[in-house]
Amino acid sequence: MMNDGGNRIENRVDGLFNKFCINIVDGKKQYLFDEEGRRYLDAFGGIATVCCGHCHPDVVSAVVKQMNRIQHSTVLYLNHAIADFAEALASKMPGDLKVVFFTNSGTEANELALMMARLYTGCQDIISIRNGYHGNAAGTMGATAQSIWKFNVVQSGVHHTLNPDPYRGVFGSDGEKYAKDVQDLINFGTSGHVAGFISEAIQGVGGIIELAPGYLPAAYSTIKKAGGLCIADEVQSGFARTGSFWGFESHGVVPDIVTMAKGIGNGIPLGAVVTTPEIAEVLTRRSYFNTFGGNPVCTAAGLAVLNVIEKEKLQENAHVVGSYLKERLLSLKDKYELVGDVRGRGLMLGLELVTDRKLKTPAKTEIVHVMEQMKDMGVLVGKGGYYGNVFRITPPLCFTKEDADFLVDAMGYTLSKM
Ligand code: PMP
Repeated sequence: MMNDGGNRIENRVDGLFNKFCINIVDGKKQYLFDEEGRRYLDAFGGIATVCCGHCHPDVVSAVVKQMNRIQHSTVLYLNHAIADFAEALASKMPGDLKVVFFTNSGTEANELALMMARLYTGCQDIISIRNGYHGNAAGTMGATAQSIWKFNVVQSGVHHTLNPDPYRGVFGSDGEKYAKDVQDLINFGTSGHVAGFISEAIQGVGGIIELAPGYLPAAYSTIKKAGGLCIADEVQSGFARTGSFWGFESHGVVPDIVTMAKGIGNGIPLGAVVTTPEIAEVLTRRSYFNTFGGNPVCTAAGLAVLNVIEKEKLQENAHVVGSYLKERLLSLKDKYELVGDVRGRGLMLGLELVTDRKLKTPAKTEIVHVMEQMKDMGVLVGKGGYYGNVFRITPPLCFTKEDADFLVDAMGYTLSKM
């Protein structure tokens, strides 16, 4: 029941968990249906489960077909479904990023990526960005940089650099200034050499924070000079969501390792790490395996998802509908003082509520009210950010302009009654 973005935690704290809880029993495209047959427009679940729409027939049939043929562990025998998806995925990557490892989740993918960076460089130190989210196992919880997601974690080896957050960050939109902190961390917190740097292209759980322009190229160059590898966590921003196929593309960088999960299997547990042959070589030093990561049924789903994205032009749709939706959300900012910021790319959008625009005071209670009212009108949005005051709008990529209008009308109506 975890709702990725803090909904459950916040709701439990606020004592509102039961009010928010809906029992979803069916799904079709961008819609969900509860046990009483009520229809909801799903403007959040696209990130966690589906990129091409709930129960997409091509994905369902690929899974059923594979299930009827053979399902087994990834590590025991060869199977075409695994190789076919790996090949298709590698073809979506720039440069020499051609070796694919499969996992069951984003956490596992990032754990593997961090381990590979450490093995390859012989260093321990990793730099990650404050407010980022990278997973909930030992290493990734260390790399995650929000207190609410950490449980008695052993932090060793991870340093958290300034968040290049154009809205709340100290240097506004000057990406290069934030990147200087990466050099400072290397100078004063390490031996001068690092294993790597991990970041999202747009922070998802952190509240749809777009990294300030110029930040990633400067940070990557600093890391490379210190001998480290750059890891792009594309678990949320990958697979066409931002209107580019990968989130890092819009920053003009090429990572050494790319990780992905969530929507890549359209609801089927699947994650992946893609890297270069040279870096991948480190895993030949010992045995490494993942029993079910990338099994034939999950990879059949992954390949079907890639085909659907292409066939239905979902990347283009994310760009076109996402731009339209962002424009409409910006119009809410013109109208309602409560809306402090609107941001994001494609169908990965955020809207931050504040009670005071100058002080940027998080509107924590108000957001819960708006969210609840929208749910009653049949629109589901997520919430996140460090203060829990940011709407996260990440629908399935088949979202239409009409859906965008419905969402904005429902949000606008609620805001007008505040
Ligand atoms: N990286 C990012 C950017 C994520 O948003 C998440 C999940 N919220 C993860 C990694 C971890 O993925 P999973 O929950 O599949 O382990």
